[in-house]
Amino acid sequence: MAPKRVLCGYGVDLDAVANWINTCDGSKQNPTNVSRGVFGATVGVDRLLKLFAKYEIKATWFTPAHTIESFPAQVGRIRDAGHELGLHGYTHEYPAQLTAAQQRDVLAKSIAVLTDFCGGARPRGYTAPAWATSKELIPQLEEFGVVYDHSFMHHDVQMHWAPDTSASDWVETNHAHDAASWMRPMSKLKPSKIVEIPANWHLDDWPPFQPVLGKPSHGYVDTDVVFRLWKQQFDFAYREYDQFVFPISIHPQVSGKPHIILLHERIIEYINGFEGVEWMPMADMAQEFLDGKITGASIEGGVDL
Ligand SMILES: [Zn+2]
Repeated sequence: MAPKRVLCGYGVDLDAVANWINTCDGSKQNPTNVSRGVFGATVGVDRLLKLFAKYEIKATWFTPAHTIESFPAQVGRIRDAGHELGLHGYTHEYPAQLTAAQQRDVLAKSIAVLTDFCGGARPRGYTAPAWATSKELIPQLEEFGVVYDHSFMHHDVQMHWAPDTSASDWVETNHAHDAASWMRPMSKLKPSKIVEIPANWHLDDWPPFQPVLGKPSHGYVDTDVVFRLWKQQFDFAYREYDQFVFPISIHPQVSGKPHIILLHERIIEYINGFEGVEWMPMADMAQEFLDGKITGASIEGGVDL
C-alpha cells in the first residue's frame, strides 16, 4: 500500500470588482455590487490572510490583473506573505465568450501584469473565470508556458494531464436539423502538456453562499450543511484513494463573511486530524505530479473518428 498522501489547497479567486464589471455587453453595473468586490479585496483579504496564517497554509490566489492594478497594496500583502498568485483573466472575462484573439490578448496582458508584480517570476497556474472555458484554452496555455490549469471536471480528486480542448470534438444537437446530423460519437480525448488540478463546484463557496439576484446562486445555505458536504467528499476520497488532492475554491467577497470564516476553521481542523495531509499552493501540487511524487489519474474517452 502506498503511503497516505493528501495534498490540500485553497484556490482563492480574488475577483474583487472585476467579476462585477465584466458585464460582457457594456451594460452598467450598480455601485452596490461593485462595493461587494471592494469588500472582498479589503476586508475579505485581511480575514483570509489571518485565517491562513493561523493554520500556516500557503494558498493560491487566482487574481485578475484588474485586481492587481486596482488594489496593489492589498495584493502586495498576499504576495509578501508567501502565497502564490495565479492567472484569472484581466477583467474576469469568460474564455467561452471571447474570440481566440481576445483570449490571447487577455492571457498576454494578465501574464505581463502578474510577472511584473512578482518581480519577474512568471505565473505557473490558471483558472478560467466562472470555469467558462473554450476550445482554444488549453493550446493557448501551452503556448504561453503555463504549467497547470484548474478549470476542468474530468476528475474531482486526482491530478492528470488536461485533455487538449482543441482536439476534442463533439456534435451538439440542433432540433432545427434532421436527427442524423448530430448522432455521432465524441472524438478521442488527447492529453496535453498542462497539468490539471480538478475544479469542483461542490467544493466552492459561491453557489451556496453568494446571493446574486436573478442568478442560480443560493446564498443562504447553513454552514452546517456545507460542512457536511465538504466533509463527506473528503471522507469518501480518504477511504477510496491512498493519494489524492483536495482543492477548495473560494472568494474573499464570500468567504470573508464571519460565518464562512468559522466554517473554514472547522473544515481545516477536521482535515488536519488525518494522517498524510499537507496544505500547499497549487503550483506545488502540480510540481509533485510532474516529479512523479504523487499518483494521478489518466483520463480516457471518445473514439477515433
Ligand atoms: Zn473568479
